[in-house]
Amino acid sequence: MRARPHHLIDILAGIGGGAQFRPHAYGHAVHIVAETVIADPDVEVTFVVGADDICEPCVHLVDGRCDDVLSRLDPPISKQDYNDDLDRRLLEFLGISEGQTMPFRQYLAIIREKFEGIEEICAHPGEEPSSRRERLDRGLREFGL
Ligand code: SF4
Repeated sequence: MRARPHHLIDILAGIGGGAQFRPHAYGHAVHIVAETVIADPDVEVTFVVGADDICEPCVHLVDGRCDDVLSRLDPPISKQDYNDDLDRRLLEFLGISEGQTMPFRQYLAIIREKFEGIEEICAHPGEEPSSRRERLDRGLREFGL
């Protein structure tokens, strides 16, 4: 599967927080990708900075770009730009190259290895970094890491 690194981290935090993955009004595939990695942690993931398999069916994917806006930021910014910047910073932090492919399980092992400080990069606006760290930690433990 093609995945933005932060989308998989969001799923991992969701698992750690006990989230139920259900279809979303946007029509995106978070719930399907979550089910896939839970059912088969060895699934191969290719990391992208751009639209991924989660974005593919989303109503906000227009001509290959996300047209959604992060309106809770002041000033509001394009979600595409926000996500691209976040994913580039995450890949650099984790030592992964754009376009690199590895099993999801290996991605989790890298997250555990580089865990210290990751919450400062991947906490979303308005989210308490310590809470994200806690949920990520629990999510990793769910996968035995
Ligand atoms: S990043 Fe944009 S296109 Fe992708 S799932 Fe989110 S809202 Fe949809």
